Amino acid sequence: MSNTDSFDVSAARSADLEHQIAQHPADFRVLTGDRPTGALHLGHYFGTLANRVRLQRAGVEVFVVIAGYQVITDRDSVGHLSRNADDLLLDYLAAGIDPDTATVFTHSAVPALNQLMLPFLSLVTAAELRRNPTVKAESEAVGERALSGLLLTYPVHQAADILFCHGNLVPVGKDQLPHVETARLIARRFNERYAAGATVFREPDALLTDACALLGTDGTKMSKSRGNAIELRSTADETATLIRRAKTDADRTITYDPEQRPEVASLLLTAALCSDTDPADLAASIGDRGAGALKTLVTEAVNEHFRPLRERRVELSTDPGHLRAVLTRGNARANEIANDTLDQVREVMGMTYEKSRQRPTTGL
Ligand code: ATP
Ligand code: MG
Repeated sequence: MSNTDSFDVSAARSADLEHQIAQHPADFRVLTGDRPTGALHLGHYFGTLANRVRLQRAGVEVFVVIAGYQVITDRDSVGHLSRNADDLLLDYLAAGIDPDTATVFTHSAVPALNQLMLPFLSLVTAAELRRNPTVKAESEAVGERALSGLLLTYPVHQAADILFCHGNLVPVGKDQLPHVETARLIARRFNERYAAGATVFREPDALLTDACALLGTDGTKMSKSRGNAIELRSTADETATLIRRAKTDADRTITYDPEQRPEVASLLLTAALCSDTDPADLAASIGDRGAGALKTLVTEAVNEHFRPLRERRVELSTDPGHLRAVLTRGNARANEIANDTLDQVREVMGMTYEKSRQRPTTGL
């Protein structure tokens, strides 16, 4: 199946899934997460975080992994992991992730999840991993660096993230579809090869999100590590300064033209997402008043939309004890589930040596 075909199939499947979610939200468990490489920005919010909160509010159980081990797939040092994890947690909670129903956990605190990597790695070939388009793109992005074993195998680690908690719904952009395919393949092969066809793991579904990539202030994709982001935690003044500096073009008349005028279009899209309006209508309302008027409008829209979130974030940051408690609870729950899953995996694989030795020799 070509990439376009598989995209079409996934898009149709996602529409069907949305329908099922509306009818039976409790049938679904979502797994998503972020690398603790910095605080989240507007791109993350509209690209994924708002969608997680929407699913949670619809009644779907949400798991969020702070993916510490993914940080070192493409860099030499771990950076400020603990501070970055706190920033992610603050962003989640301020955005509306509810720790009473959602489980937020950190990779490294859940050993059984990571141990699933070993049987899972046996289920994919090196050639399959090298063919993964996202791995290819990421390894090109790291440039001169040699491809690390962890980067090559990170779709398998993501499969462990998804399957340890029997997540069956993974909200992704289309660039992430191959990862969900890997998780599906691993679930299928595990059941066939190690569980005699019994369903230990269900194949998770991708839930495609159609969010466009927001551009940063330099006109390239907004990204934590590029220094071009408007962060959720930015103050109103910082936001104004960042947007004032944002790259636009020389044409004074503002139009919404993502192909020809990506920077202006991204600013319009940002304001439209914040004010629930149409970017082309916003462009028409500005007309020939130029980039200055556009930037004022975007700044107001962003600051207005994120004011409540930012206020909650500031308030939450005054209570580090609460943050610790949320993570402790999330990690405890993730461990409980991961231990059960690993027990089951070892059981079906016949790796419960102590147990079999202790088993009474009945009937002899
Ligand atoms: P890093 O610098 O650590 O790579 P990043 O800011 O590039 O961080 P990613 O971890 O690459 O963020 O992105 C995680 C997810 O967040 C993406 O799969 C996508 O759903 C969403 N996302 C990130 N950046 C944007 C953006 N600029 N516009 C829309 N969505 C985005
Ligand atoms: Mg990135």
